[in-house]
Amino acid sequence: MTPGAAQPSISWFHGHSRAFVKIQDGCNMECAYCVIPAVRPKLSCKPYDNLRHEVENLLAQGYVEIVLCGIRLGRYMSADGAGKRVDFVSMLERLTRIPGDFRIRLSSLEITDVGDRLIAVMANSTGRLCPSLHVPLQSGSAWVLKRMQRWYSAAFYKRRINALKNVLPHVGLFTDIMVGFPGENQARFKESLDLIKEIEFSGLHVFRYSQRAKTPAARYEGQIPEKEISARASEMRRLDHDLRAAFAARAVGSRRRVVAELSGREALTEDFLTVKLEKEINQGFHNVQVLKTDGPLLWAQVSSTAQ
Ligand code: SF4
Repeated sequence: MTPGAAQPSISWFHGHSRAFVKIQDGCNMECAYCVIPAVRPKLSCKPYDNLRHEVENLLAQGYVEIVLCGIRLGRYMSADGAGKRVDFVSMLERLTRIPGDFRIRLSSLEITDVGDRLIAVMANSTGRLCPSLHVPLQSGSAWVLKRMQRWYSAAFYKRRINALKNVLPHVGLFTDIMVGFPGENQARFKESLDLIKEIEFSGLHVFRYSQRAKTPAARYEGQIPEKEISARASEMRRLDHDLRAAFAARAVGSRRRVVAELSGREALTEDFLTVKLEKEINQGFHNVQVLKTDGPLLWAQVSSTAQ
């Protein structure tokens, strides 16, 4: 935690099953397209004891899925009341040991935070940590990544994902991908398409590059025309649909432990698939049997209120 920095304090809720807890704020990296370092350059983290109390309170109120959020979540660093250092992975280890029936989901993590310790904690958490990660890639082109001032290469990204999938082969794996970054020609765009297919993500969040004042990329040569950016975004979204449908298809026939979404007719699996149900369910955990898919959506039958 940065001494004296404001602590992230926001929590927000989705229905009565899922609570989003902001545990970290700010970013001191320098991605060429991003305004956040200019407006929130200091990293700040919620002190561990405050975080633990907040999670315990939410569980006491009946929330069963706690989503940990932050701009650089993996940079979480704090101390407990006894002054003992609590880094990101030890924070997760401690939270997963809180008694009760609940699960923890991580919102978004950078690839350099997907270390072997994190993978081991996920694998050993017996479902307490959702087997689902959102890890921004942004581009599959080494040239574009460097120009974006991202701090990893496509090859490094692939190596870490291989390490993750070696231990958790069925992990839900989602990513952010940006299209139309200045200088991204067709060959470099194709490198992104190829890497995404090779990695077999479970789904993509597709972003169109847009010029932001005061960012280095706004002054770069090679700005891509809007029409071309739209065409690439459409192609990437078609790929996203196919990846999500393929990931969903692998779930048919399985039993899943889901939490109700807002309507009560939809629910969320551990690995971040949306499930449509034939009848409304209450908040909390439910076991469902997955019957069929409709594109990226699953249709399932409630088999029991989970225990
Ligand atoms: S894109 Fe993310 S990592 Fe990069 S500067 Fe912005 S907030 Fe930081």
